Amino acid sequence: MTTAVKSPLYLTDTTLRLLGDLTDGPAGFDGIAATPEWAQEVRRLARERNATILAHNYQLPEIQDVADHVGDSLALSRIAAEASESTIVFCGVHFMAETAKILSPEKTVLIPDQRAGCSLADSITADDLREWKADNPGAVVVSYVNTTAEVKALTDICCTSSNAVDVVNSIDPDKDILFLPDQFLGAHVKRVTGRTNLQIWAGECHVHAGINGDELAEQARTHPDADLFVHPECGCATSALYLAGEGAVPEDRVKILSTGGMLDAARATGAKQVLVATEVGMLHQLRRAAPNVDFQAVNDRASCKYMKMITAGALLRSLVEGADEVHVDPETAAAGRLSVQRMIAIGSSGGGE
Ligand code: SF4
Repeated sequence: MTTAVKSPLYLTDTTLRLLGDLTDGPAGFDGIAATPEWAQEVRRLARERNATILAHNYQLPEIQDVADHVGDSLALSRIAAEASESTIVFCGVHFMAETAKILSPEKTVLIPDQRAGCSLADSITADDLREWKADNPGAVVVSYVNTTAEVKALTDICCTSSNAVDVVNSIDPDKDILFLPDQFLGAHVKRVTGRTNLQIWAGECHVHAGINGDELAEQARTHPDADLFVHPECGCATSALYLAGEGAVPEDRVKILSTGGMLDAARATGAKQVLVATEVGMLHQLRRAAPNVDFQAVNDRASCKYMKMITAGALLRSLVEGADEVHVDPETAAAGRLSVQRMIAIGSSGGGE
C-alpha cells in the first residue's frame, strides 16, 4: 500500500519522487532503495529539521552509514543528551528511543517506525513488575536496560551486560534482589556473584535462539584458528555469555566484549578469522574497523526483525513527517531517570549495551 506524506519542510522533487515509491505493510515501510540520492536527501532533511541521526550497531548497514553516530544504546542516549540539535532521530528499537527521551526530556525524539519493539522488553509489563514487587516487599529491583520506560520507573537500578555484576555487588548482601527481564544475563550474574537471594524473571530475546550452545561449540571446533568474540549486547547474545561461562567453548579462545572493546579487539587481533556471537548487524562495524579480518557470524540467522524495521523508507518518512514521536510522561521519565542515573554511577556502563 502506498502512503500519503505530510510535512512542514521544503520537499524537493527528488524527495517527492522517492516518497512516491514508499509502501507500508505488516513488516514496516519499504519501497525506497538506499541510493546515494536517498542518502543525500536524508542528510539534507536532517539539517532542515535540526536533527541528529543516531543508529544502533544492529541497524541495517545503509542506516549505519548515513547516521551521524553509531553505537550501543546507552552511548547513543548520552550523545543524544549532549547533542546541540533539538531533534534526535533514533534508529533502533522503541525502548532505546524512550531511554534517550528519559535522558533528554526537552528534546524531540523520533523513531522512524514505532512498531520496532523488542521481545525482551515486552517480556515484562509494569503490572507484572508491580505484582512481583508486591510478592517480595523490600526487594531491590535491578533491570537490564531492555525495558520500557514504565518498568524503568518501577526499578531501583538499571544495568547493562557490562556492569550487571558490579550493580548486583553494590547491593547490601542481606537484601533480596529481583533481576529482570533477561534470564540468561540473570543466570550469568547469579553464577559470578554467587548470590543466592536473587530471583530472575524468565524473559528472553527471540534472537538468542540463533546462538545456541551446540552451534557455538561446533563453530569453535571447526574453526580452530579463529578467535571467538561474544558481544552480549541487547539480549541477543547473553545466552552465549552464559554458555561460555558454562564451558561450552574453550575459555582461552573466547573474548567477552562490549561494543568499543570488540572494535578495539578487531583492530588488534592477530587472527585471520573471527567468529562473532552477536546480532548480525554488528558485523558491518567490525568489517569496517578491520577490513583484512574475515568476520563470520556464529549463526547468520541471528538477526533482529525489529531492528531491521528501520528501513531507508522509514527513515526518509520520519524526517519528512517528524514521526513517530516518542512521548514519556514526565513523572515516569523522572522516576526512570533515577534508575538509569544510578546505573551510570556504578561500574563501567560505557559498553555492552
Ligand atoms: S536483539 Fe533481542 S533484545 Fe535486542 S532489540 Fe532485538 S529483540 Fe530486543
